[in-house]
Amino acid sequence: MEKNNSLKVQIYNIDENNRTEKFMEDVIEEILMSLDISFFHMEALKAHAIIIRTYLVRKMRIFGGMGVEYERCDITNREGEYVLKSLEEIKFKYNEEYDNVKETISYAVKSTKNKIITMNNNPIYPRFHETCGGATENSEIVGNHRIMYLRKVLCEYCTESPYYEEWREMSTGEFLEKLQISIDKSTPTSGPHMEGIIYDAKRDETGRIKSIKIGDKELKGIEVVEKLGINSTRFGWQPIKFKIYTRGKGHGLGLCQYGANKMATLGKNYEEIIKYYFTGIKIKDIEIPNEEKPLHNRVIVIDPGHGGESSEDNVGILGTREKDINLSIGMKLKKQLEQLGAKVIITREKDEYVSLSRRANISNEIMPDFFLSIHQNSFRNSNVCGSEIYIYRGDEESATLAELILKKLSASKEVVSRGVKIADFFLLREVRSSALQIEVGFITNEEEEKRLLNEEFQNTIGMNISRAMVEYYNYN
Ligand SMILES: [Zn+2]
Ligand SMILES: [Zn+2]
Repeated sequence: MEKNNSLKVQIYNIDENNRTEKFMEDVIEEILMSLDISFFHMEALKAHAIIIRTYLVRKMRIFGGMGVEYERCDITNREGEYVLKSLEEIKFKYNEEYDNVKETISYAVKSTKNKIITMNNNPIYPRFHETCGGATENSEIVGNHRIMYLRKVLCEYCTESPYYEEWREMSTGEFLEKLQISIDKSTPTSGPHMEGIIYDAKRDETGRIKSIKIGDKELKGIEVVEKLGINSTRFGWQPIKFKIYTRGKGHGLGLCQYGANKMATLGKNYEEIIKYYFTGIKIKDIEIPNEEKPLHNRVIVIDPGHGGESSEDNVGILGTREKDINLSIGMKLKKQLEQLGAKVIITREKDEYVSLSRRANISNEIMPDFFLSIHQNSFRNSNVCGSEIYIYRGDEESATLAELILKKLSASKEVVSRGVKIADFFLLREVRSSALQIEVGFITNEEEEKRLLNEEFQNTIGMNISRAMVEYYNYN
C-alpha cells in the first residue's frame, strides 16, 4: 500500500508551457478543490474523489494509459471538466476557509483510497457535469461513440441546483453574432419578417403599413399607431433582446454533480451515487504497477522476419542468414520482456515459413500494445552499418518508442543509430497496432555480422529494446 503514495502524475501546464510532477493523491485533492463543490455532502465528495482517481488512472502511462500529447505527460491542467487550478488560485478562492476545506477534501480522498470505477476491469472515463436538469445524456448524443456506462438516467435530484433553470438575456447583436446570422436591417419602410411575432406586413407604395399580423392578431396600421402611441404608420421594427431559457448546465454525461449532492443528503452513500449515474460499473481497488514487473499487463507481438527453406532473407559476407539472427534475437527478447511482466506472442519459434498476412493476422487477433518486427539490413557497400527503425506514417507511439530504442542501442559505442524512418511496408500498414520494424544491424558489414552472431550481443540488443519499452511506459 505504501507504494501507492509514491505514484506520481506528470502534469503539463498548458498556460505556462511547463511540466510538473505531483503525487497522485495530492492531484486528486487539488482537482477536487478546483471544483466549486466544497460545500457538498461528504458522500458526494467521496464520489467525486473516486471519479477523479479513475480519470487519473485511466490517463497515467504507468497504468497503461495514453497520457497527453505534451512531453509524454499524463494529464494537462485543463482537460474538459478536469481543471487543475494552481495552488495560489485555490488558496485565493477559499481564502481563510482554505484549511477547513483542505481538511474536508483530504478526508474524502483518503477514505476512498485506491478506489476507482471500472468496467470489464478497465477504468472508465468518468464524465460529470454541474446539473443535468432532469435526465443525463447518452454518450452518442454528445460525442460519436456509444459508451456503455454513459447511458441516460432520469435525475430528479438536481431541481434545487442554482443551475436547474436560468433565464439569460442577450442583445440581438450578441445573439446574431454568436450564431453568425444576419437579418435585414430595419427602416421606417421595412422591418424584418419574424414568423409568429410580426409578419405579413402590407404596405402602400410609400411604405405606410396598411395591415400587419402581430402574434395571432391582424391589425390595421393605424390601430398599431394608436395603441403603441408611435408617430406614424411608416414604421419598421427590430428585436433588441433575446431571453433564453435553459435547464441544467454542462454536457449531461455521467454524474450530475448537484444531483449527487442531493442523493448524499438523502442518505445515499458514494457507491450508490456512482452506480446511479454510471451504468453497469464496478468499484474496485487499483492494481498498483509492480516495480519488478514494470511491463505487467502489456501485450507485445514479436515478429522475427523471414524463415523457412525458401526464405528471401539477407545473407552476410560470412554466410550468416538474416532469418536465423532475427529468430535468435526475437527469442531472447521474448524471454526478457516476459521477465519484466509482459505477455509476449511470437510469430514463429523456429525456422519456418510464415506468410506476411498470417503475421498480421496473429497480431490483429490479439491487438497488442506493440508489434515488433526484427530484421537485419543489407547493402552493397559493406562499410554501411548501424541500426534503423521503420514505422508507419503518423504512428506517434511507435515513433516515440523507436527513438527510445535507438537511444538505448546506440548507448553502446558499437552501435550507430541511423534514425527512425517512415515506410509503407506491408506489415506496418496491415498490423492494426503500433508497429516497428527494427533493423538491428547490417549483415553485409563484416564487423557487424560477427557481432550479430554473438549471443552476448544478441542479449544486449534484447535488453536495450526491453529497457526502452520500460522507459516508454514509465517516464523518468
Ligand atoms: Zn440531475
Ligand atoms: Zn529482413
